[in-house]
Amino acid sequence: MFRTRAIDQMSMNPSSSTECRRCGICCEKGGPAFHVEDRMLIDSGLIPAKHLYTLRKGELVNDSIRGCLLPLESEMIKIKGRNRAWTCVFFDKSGPACRIYEHRPLECRILKCWDTRDIEALYSQNRLMREDLLSGIPALWSLIEDHDLRCSHVTVRNLLDSKSGGADAKKTIQEILEYDRSIRILVVEKAGVESNLLDFIFGRPLSEAIHGRY
Ligand code: SF4
Repeated sequence: MFRTRAIDQMSMNPSSSTECRRCGICCEKGGPAFHVEDRMLIDSGLIPAKHLYTLRKGELVNDSIRGCLLPLESEMIKIKGRNRAWTCVFFDKSGPACRIYEHRPLECRILKCWDTRDIEALYSQNRLMREDLLSGIPALWSLIEDHDLRCSHVTVRNLLDSKSGGADAKKTIQEILEYDRSIRILVVEKAGVESNLLDFIFGRPLSEAIHGRY
């Protein structure tokens, strides 16, 4: 994510390769992941939770440093893309580029697309977790922990990989997908949770997250 087109453009114009030109190429490739240093941005509402989503432990994601699909060793909270595309929801091509520039997260502050050493060093460090933000709401937190157990990406991937699982494995996967779907409906209808918070609370819908990946 951090190399490729942005790097290519910089190498064509080396004179501009010592400061951020706010070209937005990084922002179009996806929003940042949060680190503990960013917590105040969420707690204060400068970045509302409706703009966040969670990639859960074990989920296969494109590793932007290594440039391949890898299962996540620990979860990541990220800024959503616009209209479920990659471009960061705060990126405005027609305006000031980043609409929260003064309050942009640490990864955005540290990223220099012409020299990725700082972002590579930071990438896996001190990631902010849902537990940091939501464990103070015990009823919700216990639902999240239960959902993580029942709808584990590792379990689903193992079931899909299982050569001998057959119909039983298929049935179990269907049950997991159904639980993932129904818990989201339940918290909206019974607990009044806003639907735009679901991707943050429970991660992306499992059916969407595994589509084409496993
Ligand atoms: S928060 Fe701002 S700087 Fe960071 S990716 Fe989004 S638009 Fe770009």
